[in-house]
Amino acid sequence: MDDTVKDGTTSQGDADHGSGESDRSEVDLSDAAARAKLHAELAEQIETHRGAYYRDDQPLVSDAEYDELSRRLEALEEQFPELVTDSSPTQTVGGSVDTSTFAPVEHIGRMYSLDNVFDFEELRAWHDRVRDAVSAKSKFLCELKIDGLAVNLLYRNGELVRAATRGDGRIGEDITANVRTIADIPQRLDTEFPPAEVEIRGEVFFPVEKFAELNAQLVAEGKPPFANPRNSAAGSLRQKDPAVTASRPLHMLVHGIAAWTPADDSHPEPAHQSEVYEQFRQWGLPISEYYKVLPTLDEIEEFISYYGDHRHDVTHEIDGIVVKIDDFAVQEALGYTSRAPRWATAYKYPPEEVTTKLLDIQVQVGRTGRVTPFAVMEPVTVAGSTVERATLHNGYEVKRKGVLIGDTVTLRKAGDVIPEVLGPVVAARDGSEREFVMPTHCPSCGTLLGEQKEGDKDVRCPNARSCPAQLANRVYYLASRAAFDIEALGEEAAVALTAPAEPETPPLTSEAFLFDLRPEDLAEVKIWRNKRVKGVETGERELVPYFYTRGTAKKPSAPSANTVKLFAELDKAKDQDLWRVLVALSIRHVGPTAARTLAAHFHSLAAIREASLEELSAVDGIGETIAQSIHDWFSVDWHEEIVDRWQEAGVRMEDEAGESAPQTLAGLTIVATGSLSTFTRDGIKEAILAAGGKAASSVSKKTDYVVAGENAGSKLEKAESLGVPVLDEEGFRNLLTTGSLD
Ligand code: NAD
Repeated sequence: MDDTVKDGTTSQGDADHGSGESDRSEVDLSDAAARAKLHAELAEQIETHRGAYYRDDQPLVSDAEYDELSRRLEALEEQFPELVTDSSPTQTVGGSVDTSTFAPVEHIGRMYSLDNVFDFEELRAWHDRVRDAVSAKSKFLCELKIDGLAVNLLYRNGELVRAATRGDGRIGEDITANVRTIADIPQRLDTEFPPAEVEIRGEVFFPVEKFAELNAQLVAEGKPPFANPRNSAAGSLRQKDPAVTASRPLHMLVHGIAAWTPADDSHPEPAHQSEVYEQFRQWGLPISEYYKVLPTLDEIEEFISYYGDHRHDVTHEIDGIVVKIDDFAVQEALGYTSRAPRWATAYKYPPEEVTTKLLDIQVQVGRTGRVTPFAVMEPVTVAGSTVERATLHNGYEVKRKGVLIGDTVTLRKAGDVIPEVLGPVVAARDGSEREFVMPTHCPSCGTLLGEQKEGDKDVRCPNARSCPAQLANRVYYLASRAAFDIEALGEEAAVALTAPAEPETPPLTSEAFLFDLRPEDLAEVKIWRNKRVKGVETGERELVPYFYTRGTAKKPSAPSANTVKLFAELDKAKDQDLWRVLVALSIRHVGPTAARTLAAHFHSLAAIREASLEELSAVDGIGETIAQSIHDWFSVDWHEEIVDRWQEAGVRMEDEAGESAPQTLAGLTIVATGSLSTFTRDGIKEAILAAGGKAASSVSKKTDYVVAGENAGSKLEKAESLGVPVLDEEGFRNLLTTGSLD
């Protein structure tokens, strides 16, 4: 994008939000010619993006970027209404018709777009505008805004006779043959008294969970993958060959009606949108199960907030909530602008998908030797945080996604969920992109990489004992909060101990010797850091001591405060509970939950080490995989060395006799959800396990109790629907101490 336009329109956007910072503008808006030029440039950019999105199904930018351009244009037109023309993108429905592939068809009733609001203040403003027209009895129908492709179905005397894309709202593309392949859509309405003619509008979508599979299939066939599920729906439906559409798992949900001609007077058109939906349901049409008719603005806001938190509980992507006036008479009275109904608005959620540049694909070697490629991207803000890295899992996954180094990619980050690269923006390629090749040798120690067993998708570095990357990650892990909980031993310190820049032989060559370390062993350890002068980075790198102070003529080098803390914490760690020691050993599949179960059963590491495979797998909650993994782990010499050296260094490897809590929850499966005031998330699990219970993470019929704290969500709902008893915090405490509910 041209920078001049960008700056100019940014300040225009600011002006729209009341900051009035027009002095930042590089486009002089007081100059009529300059603002007309800006208007034309913005309109042209929007039309280009519309073409890529609607005609080619391969957008060049994310929806958020497109929306931002649209808002800038709107703000400019609001300030200078003389710029508005009939053909401005603000006045038109943004589709197009590809007449080379599809026959054009004229809709009977126009298909509109929707106006947007982006926060509750804008929603309230819309509500205030329509309130006068809304009678006291009239309500609002709220429903999910499905991120798919708008389709218009025409039924005559109950028979599906035509299906079309929205196109420019008047003329769409005839996709009847393709739509007939979608199983959700009835060829005939299930009624004896169908209207003589009716247009039914809805959204065709591609289920999110099937998206990765489709891209993998396209890549395998040498075809361009899609950037996101919405585009895959459009691309799958707008196919020359309906057989291709038939092979894709498309679905439809209907949400609108036009051109209803009743068959006779005894079957008139319903008076409310919600009645139409019930009619649709009876006719066998797919309607969303999530709509609600609500009377007040407060309830609408509540609905919006609820689905903001539950966006991912539905099978399709949603980009907002549509609020419609339910009463058709009021809809009619309010009418339409040239582009959208006045009786409805779309509350748009913050974007979860953005596009960014994939700068590189690098690999990292994890604690268990797994070699994982990850995307290095131009930093981008999405769902409230800045993202610049995302795991790509393994070499197969990179291929499946069809992404190339140098691609513009769609990145999704949904709230707390780990960021994910969805797919490439193929239309933005310029030929300079290159394929990622998985390394054959470990980037850390140079050992030949291999699969652990045939058919594994992951490759691993087999040099488990001394690969510096694996060792550093194990040391970092054993210090984590779920293991020994050594705060002063973070990621950088773990690397400094195991793979420093100097000296050549690191102070720690195996975690076996961790508790044998003495401060003086760390005096010479140096690492590379960015050089700073008075707090400002100079762009140079310098070697600095890591564990010791720099030392001056007056004050010789000595262990830093953090190093002193590290040794104090190492000493404290020797007295940690047995389950934490077990976690610290990095045995595959033995995380905190399995470790707590093992500790509660065997009480000492010696007993676990000596236990047979049968004895291990007989423990409730352990099972064969974990048992085998423990058994295998103890059969490796250098693993035994870790245990022996730690023991010699004074690490407590048993829980004291009689220490175990009364087994008040023996045999009970308990799920905790929501926030509790006297337990942390881990704390309650620990309490359940220590009292002999099973701490499960999902609710099923086998769950004995659900402990629900504040803001408990879907787990509580599930418990209620399955009739599982629900306890509050006090009830749980009672059960824990007495073993009964009284
Ligand atoms: P829109 O998607 O914001 O809203 C209108 C459409 O929402 C309707 O036509 C309807 O098909 C659909 N819809 C979904 N659920 C609905 C429901 N429950 N009830 C009623 N309608 C429902 O507007 P638009 O004009 O279709 O498209 C504009 C949007 O498309 C942009 O905001 C952007 O997200 C996307 N877009 C992106 C690009 C790009 O380059 N990335 C280009 C063009 C458009």
